[in-house]
Amino acid sequence: MSDSANSNMNENNLPGIQNVIAVGSGKGGVGKSTVAANIAASLAIEGAAVGLLDADIYGPSQAKMFSVGGKRLMADEEKNIIPLKSFGVKIMSIANLVEDGQALTWRGPILHGTLTQMLKQTLWGDLDYLIVDLPPGTGDVQLSLSQLISVTGAVIVTTPQEVALLDVRRAYTMLRKTHIPVLGIVENMSYYQLPDGSKDYIFGEGGAKTFAEEENVELLGQIPITRAMRESGDGGKPLVLAQPDSPSAEALREATRTLVKQIRAQNQMSLPIL
Ligand code: ADP
Repeated sequence: MSDSANSNMNENNLPGIQNVIAVGSGKGGVGKSTVAANIAASLAIEGAAVGLLDADIYGPSQAKMFSVGGKRLMADEEKNIIPLKSFGVKIMSIANLVEDGQALTWRGPILHGTLTQMLKQTLWGDLDYLIVDLPPGTGDVQLSLSQLISVTGAVIVTTPQEVALLDVRRAYTMLRKTHIPVLGIVENMSYYQLPDGSKDYIFGEGGAKTFAEEENVELLGQIPITRAMRESGDGGKPLVLAQPDSPSAEALREATRTLVKQIRAQNQMSLPIL
């Protein structure tokens, strides 16, 4: 898949990268990184050129989710970093750049400098999509990202509980303030599918839908809580590849298709429909 059209034709664009999609959440533990990994893998399955930047300095997990944890990054003669590649996705993670936990204390300028390096000194090549896994909440990384490059839009991941949705509102407000359009919301761990096929809404029902309606953003998908999803994260292969026929994988593929439609609408351009 290759697309030359991009609405963000300004100096903050990364050369060769058509769309930058940030994946954020109001708080940690809602499955943001898992959803980001599966969006990236779903796009790659469809033939798109995809990069994944793990900017979650508080808990980088993409290297593990793509089985490239502990791999050393190589640089070319101009000291540009060559990203790792796994399951068709180019990966650059803070976990491969610095020792575990080192980035936790970073603030302001150091964070900004490192993010700049990860974005601009990485040999991404031509990409249809660069997915950026943000830290949870609202903070320096989100701010830096919006200052450094044109972000096509953001996806917010949440769980159905009301407390999680309060945090979503904060994340949403911050993204709006930094002029990053919100492309949609993914509700993760929406329900547990019982053996008879019925759905048990263990964390409550309808919260993300109500939020989406109130704020006029797209509800991209509702992903069930499944053992397969947890196992795939630990197993180092995104669920859409590890167990493509599982209910969570199908919901993630569908959410990705809806996301592409949103990006397309946003860019007012003709991206091929997945
Ligand atoms: P976050 O990035 O929001 O902190 P993670 O993506 O790291 O969250 O997910 C937290 C944990 O929950 C991981 O162990 C992950 O495998 C698991 N998980 C995420 N989504 C699901 C789901 N739908 N069903 C079961 N386990 C899930």
